[in-house]
Amino acid sequence: MSALETQPMLRWSGVEGRPLVIAGPCSAESEAQMMETARRLHGVRVDYFRAGIWKARTRPVAFEGIGDVGLPWLVHAGREFGMRTATEVATPAHVEAALQHGVDLLWIGARTTVNPFSVQELADALRGVTVPVLVKNPTSPALGLWTGALERINRAGVRALGVIHRGFAVASSRRFRNPPMWELAIEFRRRHPEIPIVTDPSHITGRRDLIQDIAQQALDLGVDGLMIEVHPNPDQAWSDAAQQLTPERLGEILHHLKVRRETSADAGFLASLEALRERIDRIDHDLLDALALRMRVVEEIADCKRENNVSTLQVSRWAALLEDRVARAEALGLAPDYARALYEIIHRESVRRQSEIMNEEPSSQAPGLDR
Ligand code: PEP
Ligand code: MN
Repeated sequence: MSALETQPMLRWSGVEGRPLVIAGPCSAESEAQMMETARRLHGVRVDYFRAGIWKARTRPVAFEGIGDVGLPWLVHAGREFGMRTATEVATPAHVEAALQHGVDLLWIGARTTVNPFSVQELADALRGVTVPVLVKNPTSPALGLWTGALERINRAGVRALGVIHRGFAVASSRRFRNPPMWELAIEFRRRHPEIPIVTDPSHITGRRDLIQDIAQQALDLGVDGLMIEVHPNPDQAWSDAAQQLTPERLGEILHHLKVRRETSADAGFLASLEALRERIDRIDHDLLDALALRMRVVEEIADCKRENNVSTLQVSRWAALLEDRVARAEALGLAPDYARALYEIIHRESVRRQSEIMNEEPSSQAPGLDR
């Protein structure tokens, strides 16, 4: 993994000790809409006023952005009400136009991050540029593409870099438009601890009623900022109507969000945390011992099935086992989805191991397909 050479967020944003806030409409629609949004954000602590000027829409029937004409509206509204400005760029022409109009921060959208050709074209256009660039995660849960995009931009000399976590597209999700897959954001942080992460609860949830909750979960994980869509009349918005908040509602949400500290120097806190972590370590070791023991039994079952030429999978047994474990987990106060996911992994490995054993050497009892 090549190291990224970046500046700390404080250096380019000036924001310290609280999350960076990027807010504004999904799309710029008119000069009046931009001015009204910015005016009504007055008094809400927004660092960068955002608006999509060119919109990469999934389907061609959707509003595809107002285009270059919206850039002066964005910049003027931001300046008038004391906010820096931000927009999405997807082509070198967008970069040129945005910079020419004085936009202060650029981001690369999720649908662009997936395409290394587009990202490289953007990187070439960004050579020598000093404005900060934030890279949204690719729509698919592929961390390599995300890192690759950062490397391309960084190699072009951009040092003021960060990422936006906006969730990942999945075939179906009941709750979210783009499920957050927090484990991927955590893994990203583990790989690139120096890169600031801004979470975008608007595109994760797709629903305004879930935004506060997801924003708080993100802050609980210690992310560095939030990007949230606001519109003066959300239900009438030309894009992403269901997820936009009024500026006033954003103000209330920001007021209620709690910012956690990375750690505390309090001796009592540190002592209790250490004691609790020792307990967790012991429990995890016991869990692994139990899993290893379980696997030894799985291996005995495989031997037994092989000798009797019986298949690895008995679907009715698996269905009954899963039902029993999920119910038991639930009775113990664990979430059923959690138990189900855990047992799916345990069972997958158990089937894999059985199949390995059953094929270790030709079984004398098994008739070939041609017999
Ligand atoms: C947006 O921020 O308006 C946008 C289009 O987001 P994403 O690239 O995350 O879909
Ligand atoms: Mn949007």
